[in-house]
Amino acid sequence: MTLNRARLRTTDWPAPDREERPLPQNARIVLNALRETRQPIKAYSLLERLHDRGIKAPMTVYRALDRLIRAGLVRKIESLNAFVALPQAAEGPVAFIICRHCERIKTVTLDPSGCAWLEAAGVDADEAYIEAFSNCYDCNKEECLSA
Ligand SMILES: [Zn+2]
Repeated sequence: MTLNRARLRTTDWPAPDREERPLPQNARIVLNALRETRQPIKAYSLLERLHDRGIKAPMTVYRALDRLIRAGLVRKIESLNAFVALPQAAEGPVAFIICRHCERIKTVTLDPSGCAWLEAAGVDADEAYIEAFSNCYDCNKEECLSA
């Protein structure tokens, strides 16, 4: 499938239904917890953080995460089996740069050249995201200091 660049610019990915329906209360609670961590977090760690906020059942967390993913507000980082909230401003395909030492994550919205690269590779950019591993600035600095 070839992609239409105009469609990439005007699409409301990653939140096709962001404007249409307000989030259920549990989804809002889960989203706030994810935004507070600013890091990828596994579902069970998220559940532990949510106990004090009245969410105690794993299925409640999974349902909320599914709703947030469908709304384009959360992504699952497959390589970490963890979830991360997207910045509200993120529109279009994103890349997650994950530190291989501390697992801190940086989210980068792909520019048109990144979209063109996906298009050339035959990838549907509406569904695409990239997970890349590197060292973050702090871990690079520590490596240099200990060398
Ligand atoms: Zn790091």
